[in-house]
Amino acid sequence: MSFRTEYMKDLMSRVEKNHPAQPEFHQAVKEVLLCMEPVAEKKPEYVSSGIFERIVEPERAIMFRVSWVDDNGNVQVNRGFRVQFNSAIGPYKGGLRFHPSVNLGVIKFLGFEQIFKNSLTGLPMGGGKGGSDFDPKGKSDGEVMRFCQSFMTELAKHIGQNTDVPAGDIGVGAREIGFMYGQYKRLQNEFTGVLTGKGLTYGGSLVRTQATGYGCCYFTEEMLATRSDSFAGKDVVISGSGNVAIYAAEKAYELGAKVVAMSDSNGYIYDPNGIDLDAVKQLKEVERKRIKEYVASHPGSTYEDGCHNIWNVKCEIALPCATQNELNGAAAEVLVKNGVLAVAEGANMPCTPEAVDVFLENKVLFGPGKAANAGGVATSGLEMSQNSMRYNWSFEEVDSKLKDIMKNIHTNARAAATEYGDADNYVLGANIAGFLKVADAMYMQGVAY
Ligand code: NDP
Repeated sequence: MSFRTEYMKDLMSRVEKNHPAQPEFHQAVKEVLLCMEPVAEKKPEYVSSGIFERIVEPERAIMFRVSWVDDNGNVQVNRGFRVQFNSAIGPYKGGLRFHPSVNLGVIKFLGFEQIFKNSLTGLPMGGGKGGSDFDPKGKSDGEVMRFCQSFMTELAKHIGQNTDVPAGDIGVGAREIGFMYGQYKRLQNEFTGVLTGKGLTYGGSLVRTQATGYGCCYFTEEMLATRSDSFAGKDVVISGSGNVAIYAAEKAYELGAKVVAMSDSNGYIYDPNGIDLDAVKQLKEVERKRIKEYVASHPGSTYEDGCHNIWNVKCEIALPCATQNELNGAAAEVLVKNGVLAVAEGANMPCTPEAVDVFLENKVLFGPGKAANAGGVATSGLEMSQNSMRYNWSFEEVDSKLKDIMKNIHTNARAAATEYGDADNYVLGANIAGFLKVADAMYMQGVAY
């Protein structure tokens, strides 16, 4: 897809020039600006008040050194980031990612996406994201703790329950959140809901662990319902075997489907009898081992090196839940040829623009991450509410709120897509529905920053 209007084309060129060598950020901005052309035509006041120019520029980007001592007594140095992208509708909110591929451009892309996703949830949360190029893989618990403490020593200066509330993401789960929370509390001497994804004994919310995966399936079920269809009886392929992937698989089973393939960054497993999810949980959540170990205890299953080939496995529903740009145009063609009905992004931007075009052209139901994986941050928002009330809701209460939120996101995205002339285009719908609330808030608050 290319720009129709000179205005958006110029703005995109400026973003590329002002943020050089950040391809993921450019990709995320381009997708949104393409969808904004009809909005700019309909609402000239957003153009005259510079909303589009302002929304693509982070309010603040913090970079810092993170030094820590490994088990051999050697000093290690990593880089830390927090991009506070937009606070028009609430405190900055978005996860922390620990992975060697993290750099400023990756964090900007994630923070930018987060603005629209958080807005779509209907909860008062601005957009932000952070992380480090630290790799928790292969590190001892002691090393992870010392890294997290050092990381939080600097981050604590910039966050707060009413300012910026980080959460987990790739490489940041319950263990890392716990270490960071402990350090924040020690530094600030206050017990507040400054992080979400906390353990249940110190302010965490029920369902937060499951929320992104469950929410992704709730959203997919809503899309399928528009064609009088459902998960029941379908074969599902899910990439990744982390937090999002595992709980997407759990909900897919609950909704009557069979998960036939899952992966990690090395390769994928295929089990025609249906993946034994308890075995995957044991391997990945408890033992922190590679997914290829699965086949030794599951006759009839196979393992193949190279995670990208997972999309060759025939399925009716595909849920990419690992990382950005993991599903390209060629993989999308194979999925379409094999009869895929619905694809929903559990991960952030896992489908390349070419892949998205293939799905839209072939009328595959396609749920973009901003909408489909918003259940995680929505439940983080519910964790913040519970922390403010000093009260906990039951699993059923939180799950029912999550279900309602995903249903509303679907309804609102579909309504916006319909209003702008392309009812089945959830990319258009999610971007516009997410944008309008933030743009309106920025417009009403004036040009102060
Ligand atoms: P985890 O760290 O729990 O799991 C990540 C999974 O993806 C692992 O299986 C990992 O394999 C795999 N993976 C990571 N990097 C790559 C890569 N470069 N190539 C191939 N596979 C890779 O992370 P989450 O499940 O939390 O996050 C997954 C995705 O979902 C991310 O895009 C994240 O931004 C998004 N997301 C997460 C939310 C949450 O609540 N956690 C909320 C919304 C979106 P390995 O173990 O080999 O590294």
